[in-house]
Amino acid sequence: MNRRMVHLSNGKTNHYDVIVVGAGVIGAALAYELVQQGVKVALLEKNQPASGASGAAGGMLAAHSEHFAHQELYQLALYSQSLYSKLATDLLEQTGIDIGLRTEGFLLPMTAVPTHTDSKVDLKEWWSPSHLAQVEPYIHAPSGMIYNPDEPQLIPALLNQALVQAAIQYHVDFYPETEVYRLLHSQKKDHITGVITNQGEIHAEQVVLTTGLCTQQLLATEQYHLPFVPVKGELIEVSTPSQYLGHTIYGEGIYMIPKSDYRIWIGATSKPERTDTTVDISAIAQLLSGAEQFLPAVGSATFERCWSGIRPGTPDELPYLGQIQPLAGLWTASGHYRNGMLLAAGTAKWIAEALINNHTVHIPDCFSPERALRKSKSLSTKSLSTIEGVSTWN
Ligand SMILES: Cc1cc2nc3c(=O)[nH]c(=O)nc-3n(C[C@H](O)[C@H](O)[C@H](O)COP(=O)(O)OP(=O)(O)OC[C@H]3O[C@@H](n4cnc5c(N)ncnc54)[C@H](O)[C@@H]3O)c2cc1C
Repeated sequence: MNRRMVHLSNGKTNHYDVIVVGAGVIGAALAYELVQQGVKVALLEKNQPASGASGAAGGMLAAHSEHFAHQELYQLALYSQSLYSKLATDLLEQTGIDIGLRTEGFLLPMTAVPTHTDSKVDLKEWWSPSHLAQVEPYIHAPSGMIYNPDEPQLIPALLNQALVQAAIQYHVDFYPETEVYRLLHSQKKDHITGVITNQGEIHAEQVVLTTGLCTQQLLATEQYHLPFVPVKGELIEVSTPSQYLGHTIYGEGIYMIPKSDYRIWIGATSKPERTDTTVDISAIAQLLSGAEQFLPAVGSATFERCWSGIRPGTPDELPYLGQIQPLAGLWTASGHYRNGMLLAAGTAKWIAEALINNHTVHIPDCFSPERALRKSKSLSTKSLSTIEGVSTWN
Protein backbone atom coordinates (compact mmCIF):
# COMPACT_ATOMS: atom_id res chain seq x y z
CA MET A 1 0.00 0.00 0.00
CA ASN A 2 1.03 3.54 -0.74
CA ARG A 3 1.89 5.24 2.57
CA ARG A 4 2.09 8.93 3.43
CA MET A 5 2.40 9.34 7.16
CA VAL A 6 2.60 12.39 9.36
CA HIS A 7 3.66 11.78 12.96
CA LEU A 8 1.85 13.80 15.63
CA SER A 9 3.22 14.74 19.04
CA ASN A 10 1.08 12.04 20.69
CA GLY A 11 2.95 9.40 18.69
CA LYS A 12 -0.01 8.71 16.46
CA THR A 13 -0.02 9.56 12.78
CA ASN A 14 -2.88 11.31 11.09
CA HIS A 15 -2.44 9.37 7.88
CA TYR A 16 -3.08 5.67 7.64
CA ASP A 17 -3.37 2.98 5.05
CA VAL A 18 -6.81 2.09 6.40
CA ILE A 19 -9.24 3.70 8.84
CA VAL A 20 -11.69 1.20 10.34
CA VAL A 21 -14.72 3.03 11.75
CA GLY A 22 -16.47 1.12 14.56
CA ALA A 23 -14.82 -1.19 17.10
CA GLY A 24 -17.55 -3.78 17.42
CA VAL A 25 -16.54 -7.34 16.72
CA ILE A 26 -16.43 -6.81 12.94
CA GLY A 27 -14.21 -3.71 13.04
CA ALA A 28 -11.98 -5.13 15.76
CA ALA A 29 -11.48 -8.41 13.87
CA LEU A 30 -10.69 -6.49 10.69
CA ALA A 31 -8.17 -4.17 12.37
CA TYR A 32 -6.48 -7.19 13.97
CA GLU A 33 -6.29 -9.00 10.63
CA LEU A 34 -5.01 -6.00 8.67
CA VAL A 35 -2.27 -5.07 11.12
CA GLN A 36 -0.89 -8.60 11.08
CA GLN A 37 -0.48 -8.19 7.34
CA GLY A 38 1.61 -5.05 7.71
CA VAL A 39 -1.14 -2.50 7.14
CA LYS A 40 -1.05 0.77 9.12
CA VAL A 41 -4.49 0.95 10.72
CA ALA A 42 -6.52 3.42 12.78
CA LEU A 43 -9.52 1.93 14.60
CA LEU A 44 -12.10 4.56 15.56
CA GLU A 45 -14.92 3.98 18.03
CA LYS A 46 -17.43 6.56 19.20
CA ASN A 47 -17.95 4.78 22.53
CA GLN A 48 -15.97 1.75 23.69
CA PRO A 49 -15.47 -1.73 22.19
CA ALA A 50 -18.55 -3.97 22.60
CA SER A 51 -20.83 -1.01 23.28
CA GLY A 52 -22.99 -1.88 20.26
CA ALA A 53 -24.67 -5.12 19.20
CA SER A 54 -21.46 -7.03 19.91
CA GLY A 55 -21.86 -6.53 23.65
CA ALA A 56 -25.40 -7.92 23.62
CA ALA A 57 -24.94 -11.18 21.71
CA GLY A 58 -25.36 -14.70 23.03
CA GLY A 59 -22.08 -15.82 21.49
CA MET A 60 -23.25 -18.90 19.60
CA LEU A 61 -21.17 -19.79 16.53
CA ALA A 62 -24.07 -21.68 14.98
CA ALA A 63 -22.95 -22.30 11.40
CA HIS A 64 -25.04 -25.48 11.08
CA SER A 65 -27.97 -24.87 13.41
CA GLU A 66 -28.89 -21.54 11.80
CA HIS A 67 -29.86 -23.35 8.55
CA PHE A 68 -28.87 -20.43 6.33
CA ALA A 69 -31.11 -20.02 3.30
CA HIS A 70 -28.24 -18.57 1.23
CA GLN A 71 -25.54 -21.07 0.28
CA GLU A 72 -22.90 -18.30 0.10
CA LEU A 73 -23.68 -17.22 3.65
CA TYR A 74 -23.50 -20.82 4.84
CA GLN A 75 -20.05 -21.17 3.22
CA LEU A 76 -18.84 -17.97 4.91
CA ALA A 77 -20.27 -19.21 8.21
CA LEU A 78 -18.45 -22.56 7.95
CA TYR A 79 -15.19 -20.89 6.97
CA SER A 80 -15.48 -18.34 9.75
CA GLN A 81 -16.41 -20.91 12.39
CA SER A 82 -13.29 -22.93 11.47
CA LEU A 83 -11.07 -19.97 12.43
CA TYR A 84 -12.15 -19.60 16.07
CA SER A 85 -10.15 -22.36 17.71
CA LYS A 86 -6.82 -20.85 16.61
CA LEU A 87 -8.10 -17.32 17.16
CA ALA A 88 -8.98 -18.12 20.79
CA THR A 89 -5.50 -19.56 21.37
CA ASP A 90 -3.75 -16.61 19.72
CA LEU A 91 -5.79 -14.04 21.64
CA LEU A 92 -5.11 -15.79 24.95
CA GLU A 93 -1.37 -15.85 24.23
CA GLN A 94 -1.25 -12.22 23.12
CA THR A 95 -3.58 -10.56 25.58
CA GLY A 96 -4.15 -13.02 28.42
CA ILE A 97 -7.90 -12.72 27.70
CA ASP A 98 -9.78 -16.02 27.62
CA ILE A 99 -12.71 -15.46 25.25
CA GLY A 100 -14.62 -18.34 26.85
CA LEU A 101 -14.73 -20.56 23.76
CA ARG A 102 -16.65 -23.71 24.69
CA THR A 103 -16.94 -26.72 22.42
CA GLU A 104 -19.40 -29.06 24.17
CA GLY A 105 -21.76 -28.65 21.21
CA PHE A 106 -25.47 -27.94 20.77
CA LEU A 107 -28.62 -29.93 21.50
CA LEU A 108 -31.60 -29.32 19.21
CA PRO A 109 -35.06 -30.20 20.58
CA MET A 110 -37.28 -32.61 18.60
CA THR A 111 -41.05 -32.36 18.28
CA ALA A 112 -41.36 -36.16 17.80
CA VAL A 113 -39.18 -39.22 18.25
CA PRO A 114 -37.37 -39.66 14.91
CA THR A 115 -37.93 -42.84 12.87
CA HIS A 116 -35.71 -44.66 10.38
CA THR A 117 -37.82 -43.21 7.57
CA ASP A 118 -37.26 -39.64 8.71
CA SER A 119 -34.81 -38.43 6.07
CA LYS A 120 -34.17 -35.11 7.84
CA VAL A 121 -32.64 -36.72 10.91
CA ASP A 122 -29.39 -38.66 11.15
CA LEU A 123 -30.21 -41.16 13.90
CA LYS A 124 -26.53 -41.34 14.86
CA GLU A 125 -26.92 -37.77 16.14
CA TRP A 126 -30.11 -38.42 18.10
CA TRP A 127 -29.84 -38.54 21.88
CA SER A 128 -32.73 -40.56 23.31
CA PRO A 129 -34.46 -39.43 26.52
CA SER A 130 -32.61 -42.16 28.45
CA HIS A 131 -29.23 -41.09 27.08
CA LEU A 132 -30.07 -37.45 27.85
CA ALA A 133 -31.05 -38.43 31.39
CA GLN A 134 -27.50 -39.71 31.93
CA VAL A 135 -25.63 -36.82 30.30
CA GLU A 136 -27.97 -33.90 31.01
CA PRO A 137 -30.19 -35.00 33.94
CA TYR A 138 -31.97 -31.63 34.24
CA ILE A 139 -33.18 -31.58 30.61
CA HIS A 140 -36.79 -32.50 29.85
CA ALA A 141 -37.10 -33.77 26.26
CA PRO A 142 -39.64 -36.61 25.75
CA SER A 143 -38.66 -36.89 22.06
CA GLY A 144 -34.93 -36.67 22.72
CA MET A 145 -32.64 -34.12 21.10
CA ILE A 146 -30.29 -33.94 18.14
CA TYR A 147 -26.66 -33.51 19.19
CA ASN A 148 -24.46 -31.27 17.07
CA PRO A 149 -20.87 -31.50 18.33
CA ASP A 150 -19.52 -28.92 15.86
CA GLU A 151 -21.09 -25.71 17.19
CA PRO A 152 -18.98 -23.72 19.67
CA GLN A 153 -19.93 -20.66 21.68
CA LEU A 154 -18.03 -17.87 23.45
CA ILE A 155 -18.36 -14.65 25.46
CA PRO A 156 -18.94 -11.89 22.89
CA ALA A 157 -17.69 -8.89 24.88
CA LEU A 158 -14.47 -10.74 25.75
CA LEU A 159 -13.88 -11.62 22.09
CA ASN A 160 -14.43 -7.97 21.15
CA GLN A 161 -12.11 -6.67 23.87
CA ALA A 162 -9.40 -9.25 23.15
CA LEU A 163 -9.42 -8.38 19.43
CA VAL A 164 -9.01 -4.67 20.18
CA GLN A 165 -6.30 -5.36 22.75
CA ALA A 166 -4.38 -7.64 20.39
CA ALA A 167 -4.73 -5.14 17.54
CA ILE A 168 -3.28 -2.41 19.77
CA GLN A 169 -0.38 -4.69 20.72
CA TYR A 170 0.38 -5.06 17.02
CA HIS A 171 0.36 -1.23 16.78
CA VAL A 172 -3.09 -0.41 15.53
CA ASP A 173 -3.83 3.15 16.67
CA PHE A 174 -7.07 2.85 18.62
CA TYR A 175 -9.19 5.98 19.11
CA PRO A 176 -11.98 5.36 21.66
CA GLU A 177 -14.71 7.96 22.09
CA THR A 178 -13.98 9.23 18.62
CA GLU A 179 -17.12 9.71 16.57
CA VAL A 180 -16.96 9.98 12.81
CA TYR A 181 -19.29 12.72 11.63
CA ARG A 182 -18.54 12.77 7.93
CA LEU A 183 -16.20 11.48 5.26
CA LEU A 184 -13.43 13.51 3.62
CA HIS A 185 -13.15 13.69 -0.19
CA SER A 186 -10.57 14.38 -2.85
CA GLN A 187 -11.06 17.66 -4.69
CA LYS A 188 -13.07 15.96 -7.43
CA LYS A 189 -15.27 14.42 -4.71
CA ASP A 190 -14.95 10.97 -6.26
CA HIS A 191 -12.41 9.56 -3.79
CA ILE A 192 -12.69 9.21 0.00
CA THR A 193 -9.54 10.45 1.70
CA GLY A 194 -10.39 10.17 5.39
CA VAL A 195 -12.90 11.12 8.05
CA ILE A 196 -13.95 14.13 10.12
CA THR A 197 -14.35 13.24 13.80
CA ASN A 198 -14.99 14.96 17.10
CA GLN A 199 -11.16 14.79 17.52
CA GLY A 200 -10.39 16.35 14.14
CA GLU A 201 -9.54 15.03 10.69
CA ILE A 202 -7.85 11.68 10.13
CA HIS A 203 -6.63 10.73 6.66
CA ALA A 204 -6.24 7.37 4.95
CA GLU A 205 -6.00 5.61 1.62
CA GLN A 206 -9.07 3.52 2.43
CA VAL A 207 -11.94 3.86 4.91
CA VAL A 208 -14.02 0.87 6.05
CA LEU A 209 -17.36 1.38 7.77
CA THR A 210 -17.85 -1.40 10.30
CA THR A 211 -20.47 0.64 12.08
CA GLY A 212 -23.32 -1.88 12.15
CA LEU A 213 -26.65 -0.10 11.83
CA CYS A 214 -24.92 3.31 11.84
CA THR A 215 -23.47 2.59 8.41
CA GLN A 216 -26.83 3.80 7.12
CA GLN A 217 -26.39 7.11 8.90
CA LEU A 218 -22.82 7.66 7.66
CA LEU A 219 -23.74 6.89 4.05
CA ALA A 220 -26.68 9.27 4.33
CA THR A 221 -24.15 12.08 4.84
CA GLU A 222 -22.94 11.18 1.33
CA GLN A 223 -26.53 11.14 0.10
CA TYR A 224 -26.56 7.38 -0.34
CA HIS A 225 -29.21 5.11 1.10
CA LEU A 226 -28.26 1.58 2.18
CA PRO A 227 -31.22 -0.09 3.91
CA PHE A 228 -30.93 -1.80 7.29
CA VAL A 229 -33.51 -3.58 9.45
CA PRO A 230 -32.95 -3.14 13.19
CA VAL A 231 -34.10 -6.18 15.19
CA LYS A 232 -34.11 -5.81 18.95
CA GLY A 233 -33.20 -8.83 21.09
CA GLU A 234 -33.39 -9.38 24.87
CA LEU A 235 -31.53 -11.92 27.00
CA ILE A 236 -31.45 -12.90 30.67
CA GLU A 237 -28.73 -14.49 32.76
CA VAL A 238 -29.45 -16.84 35.66
CA SER A 239 -27.15 -18.75 37.98
CA THR A 240 -27.78 -22.24 39.29
CA PRO A 241 -26.42 -23.94 42.42
CA SER A 242 -24.83 -26.77 40.42
CA GLN A 243 -24.47 -27.63 36.74
CA TYR A 244 -28.00 -27.68 35.33
CA LEU A 245 -26.80 -27.52 31.73
CA GLY A 246 -23.62 -28.63 29.96
CA HIS A 247 -24.60 -28.12 26.32
CA THR A 248 -26.26 -25.23 24.52
CA ILE A 249 -29.94 -25.92 23.85
CA TYR A 250 -30.83 -24.39 20.50
CA GLY A 251 -34.61 -24.42 20.12
CA GLU A 252 -37.17 -22.66 17.96
CA GLY A 253 -37.32 -19.09 19.32
CA ILE A 254 -35.43 -20.00 22.50
CA TYR A 255 -31.87 -20.90 23.40
CA MET A 256 -30.01 -21.60 26.61
CA ILE A 257 -26.25 -21.21 26.67
CA PRO A 258 -24.21 -22.52 29.61
CA LYS A 259 -21.46 -20.13 30.68
CA SER A 260 -18.85 -20.35 33.46
CA ASP A 261 -19.80 -20.49 37.15
CA TYR A 262 -23.05 -22.38 36.47
CA ARG A 263 -24.52 -19.37 34.70
CA ILE A 264 -26.99 -19.80 31.86
CA TRP A 265 -27.85 -17.16 29.24
CA ILE A 266 -31.41 -17.45 28.01
CA GLY A 267 -32.33 -15.73 24.77
CA ALA A 268 -33.50 -14.17 22.75
CA THR A 269 -36.49 -12.15 21.71
CA SER A 270 -36.68 -10.91 18.16
CA LYS A 271 -38.46 -7.57 17.64
CA PRO A 272 -38.06 -6.01 14.18
CA GLU A 273 -37.97 -2.22 13.97
CA ARG A 274 -37.60 -1.86 17.76
CA THR A 275 -34.61 0.39 18.36
CA ASP A 276 -34.88 1.06 22.10
CA THR A 277 -32.61 -0.84 24.46
CA THR A 278 -35.01 -1.34 27.33
CA VAL A 279 -36.02 -4.85 28.50
CA ASP A 280 -39.74 -5.62 28.46
CA ILE A 281 -41.17 -7.50 31.48
CA SER A 282 -43.08 -9.64 28.97
CA ALA A 283 -39.75 -10.60 27.38
CA ILE A 284 -38.47 -11.96 30.68
CA ALA A 285 -41.67 -13.97 31.13
CA GLN A 286 -41.50 -15.25 27.55
CA LEU A 287 -37.86 -16.33 27.86
CA LEU A 288 -38.40 -18.04 31.22
CA SER A 289 -41.43 -20.01 30.06
CA GLY A 290 -39.56 -21.01 26.88
CA ALA A 291 -36.60 -22.19 28.97
CA GLU A 292 -38.79 -24.11 31.43
CA GLN A 293 -40.07 -26.36 28.62
CA PHE A 294 -36.62 -27.91 28.34
CA LEU A 295 -35.12 -27.11 31.72
CA PRO A 296 -37.96 -27.17 34.30
CA ALA A 297 -35.53 -26.49 37.17
CA VAL A 298 -34.67 -23.09 35.74
CA GLY A 299 -37.49 -21.61 37.82
CA SER A 300 -35.41 -22.23 40.94
CA ALA A 301 -32.36 -20.49 39.51
CA THR A 302 -31.24 -17.04 40.66
CA PHE A 303 -31.90 -14.08 38.37
CA GLU A 304 -28.61 -12.28 37.66
CA ARG A 305 -29.28 -9.68 34.96
CA CYS A 306 -31.01 -8.94 31.69
CA TRP A 307 -30.02 -6.86 28.69
CA SER A 308 -30.94 -5.99 25.17
CA GLY A 309 -29.25 -4.97 21.94
CA ILE A 310 -30.16 -4.27 18.34
CA ARG A 311 -29.19 -6.72 15.61
CA PRO A 312 -28.00 -4.98 12.43
CA GLY A 313 -30.25 -6.74 9.92
CA THR A 314 -30.61 -6.13 6.19
CA PRO A 315 -33.71 -6.66 4.01
CA ASP A 316 -32.32 -9.87 2.44
CA GLU A 317 -30.54 -10.99 5.65
CA LEU A 318 -27.13 -10.92 3.96
CA PRO A 319 -24.35 -8.65 5.24
CA TYR A 320 -22.98 -5.87 3.06
CA LEU A 321 -19.36 -6.74 2.30
CA GLY A 322 -17.24 -4.78 -0.13
CA GLN A 323 -16.67 -1.45 -1.79
CA ILE A 324 -19.17 1.38 -1.95
CA GLN A 325 -18.45 1.63 -5.67
CA PRO A 326 -19.38 5.23 -6.45
CA LEU A 327 -16.88 6.45 -3.83
CA ALA A 328 -13.39 5.06 -4.43
CA GLY A 329 -11.62 4.18 -1.20
CA LEU A 330 -14.82 3.52 0.75
CA TRP A 331 -15.76 0.03 1.94
CA THR A 332 -18.20 -1.51 4.34
CA ALA A 333 -18.58 -4.72 6.33
CA SER A 334 -21.86 -4.36 8.15
CA GLY A 335 -25.35 -5.83 8.45
CA HIS A 336 -24.35 -9.16 10.03
CA TYR A 337 -27.79 -9.41 11.63
CA ARG A 338 -27.97 -12.30 14.14
CA ASN A 339 -24.61 -13.91 13.29
CA GLY A 340 -21.93 -11.26 13.58
CA MET A 341 -19.98 -13.21 16.20
CA LEU A 342 -19.94 -16.25 13.98
CA LEU A 343 -19.10 -14.29 10.82
CA ALA A 344 -16.54 -11.83 12.22
CA ALA A 345 -13.36 -13.88 11.72
CA GLY A 346 -14.19 -14.86 8.14
CA THR A 347 -15.42 -11.39 7.25
CA ALA A 348 -12.15 -9.92 8.49
CA LYS A 349 -10.09 -12.32 6.33
CA TRP A 350 -12.14 -11.55 3.22
CA ILE A 351 -12.18 -7.77 3.61
CA ALA A 352 -8.48 -7.63 4.53
CA GLU A 353 -7.60 -9.66 1.45
CA ALA A 354 -9.77 -7.40 -0.71
CA LEU A 355 -8.26 -4.21 0.73
CA ILE A 356 -4.67 -5.36 0.45
CA ASN A 357 -4.95 -6.77 -3.08
CA ASN A 358 -7.62 -4.28 -4.15
CA HIS A 359 -9.97 -6.90 -5.47
CA THR A 360 -12.82 -8.84 -3.95
CA VAL A 361 -11.92 -12.25 -5.33
CA HIS A 362 -13.27 -14.22 -2.35
CA ILE A 363 -16.42 -12.20 -1.81
CA PRO A 364 -19.46 -13.51 -3.72
CA ASP A 365 -21.46 -10.84 -5.56
CA CYS A 366 -24.53 -11.46 -3.41
CA PHE A 367 -22.76 -9.65 -0.54
CA SER A 368 -21.97 -6.53 -2.56
CA PRO A 369 -23.53 -3.34 -1.11
CA GLU A 370 -24.32 -2.41 -4.73
CA ARG A 371 -27.35 -4.68 -4.60
CA ALA A 372 -29.19 -2.24 -2.35
CA LEU A 373 -27.33 1.08 -2.56
CA ARG A 374 -29.40 4.00 -3.84
CA LYS A 375 -28.65 7.68 -4.32
CA SER A 376 -30.84 9.55 -1.87
CA LYS A 377 -32.05 13.10 -2.38
CA SER A 378 -32.41 14.21 1.20
CA LEU A 379 -29.57 14.22 3.68
CA SER A 380 -30.56 12.32 6.80
CA THR A 381 -29.06 13.86 9.87
CA LYS A 382 -31.13 11.89 12.36
CA SER A 383 -28.76 10.55 14.98
CA LEU A 384 -28.82 6.80 15.44
CA SER A 385 -26.64 7.07 18.50
CA THR A 386 -29.40 5.76 20.72
CA ILE A 387 -30.14 2.64 18.74
CA GLU A 388 -26.99 0.63 18.61
CA GLY A 389 -26.18 0.63 22.30
CA VAL A 390 -26.57 -2.11 24.84
CA SER A 391 -28.42 -1.76 28.12
CA THR A 392 -28.08 -3.98 31.14
CA TRP A 393 -30.18 -4.23 34.28
CA ASN A 394 -29.18 -6.13 37.40
C1 LIG B 1 -29.67 -10.04 21.47
C2 LIG B 1 -28.63 -10.42 20.44
C3 LIG B 1 -28.14 -11.72 20.40
C4 LIG B 1 -27.20 -12.09 19.44
N1 LIG B 1 -26.67 -13.35 19.47
C5 LIG B 1 -25.71 -13.71 18.58
C6 LIG B 1 -25.11 -14.99 18.63
O1 LIG B 1 -25.41 -15.80 19.50
N2 LIG B 1 -24.17 -15.29 17.69
C7 LIG B 1 -23.81 -14.41 16.72
O2 LIG B 1 -22.99 -14.77 15.87
N3 LIG B 1 -24.33 -13.17 16.67
C8 LIG B 1 -25.28 -12.80 17.56
N4 LIG B 1 -25.83 -11.56 17.51
C9 LIG B 1 -25.49 -10.67 16.40
C10 LIG B 1 -24.18 -9.91 16.64
O3 LIG B 1 -24.20 -9.36 17.93
C11 LIG B 1 -24.05 -8.80 15.59
O4 LIG B 1 -24.24 -9.31 14.29
C12 LIG B 1 -22.64 -8.20 15.67
O5 LIG B 1 -22.38 -7.80 16.99
C13 LIG B 1 -22.49 -7.03 14.74
O6 LIG B 1 -21.22 -6.50 14.95
P1 LIG B 1 -20.78 -5.09 14.37
O7 LIG B 1 -19.36 -4.90 14.74
O8 LIG B 1 -21.17 -5.02 12.93
O9 LIG B 1 -21.75 -4.05 15.08
P2 LIG B 1 -21.63 -3.33 16.51
O10 LIG B 1 -21.23 -4.28 17.57
O11 LIG B 1 -22.90 -2.58 16.71
O12 LIG B 1 -20.43 -2.35 16.32
C14 LIG B 1 -20.52 -1.13 15.59
C15 LIG B 1 -19.68 -0.12 16.34
O13 LIG B 1 -19.60 1.06 15.57
C16 LIG B 1 -19.59 2.16 16.48
N5 LIG B 1 -20.00 3.35 15.71
C17 LIG B 1 -21.21 3.57 15.15
N6 LIG B 1 -21.21 4.76 14.51
C18 LIG B 1 -19.99 5.31 14.70
C19 LIG B 1 -19.38 6.52 14.28
N7 LIG B 1 -20.07 7.43 13.55
N8 LIG B 1 -18.11 6.76 14.63
C20 LIG B 1 -17.40 5.85 15.36
N9 LIG B 1 -17.93 4.68 15.79
C21 LIG B 1 -19.20 4.40 15.46
C22 LIG B 1 -20.59 1.75 17.55
O14 LIG B 1 -20.42 2.47 18.74
C23 LIG B 1 -20.30 0.26 17.68
O15 LIG B 1 -19.37 -0.01 18.72
C24 LIG B 1 -26.75 -11.14 18.48
C25 LIG B 1 -27.21 -9.83 18.55
C26 LIG B 1 -28.14 -9.46 19.52
C27 LIG B 1 -28.59 -8.03 19.60
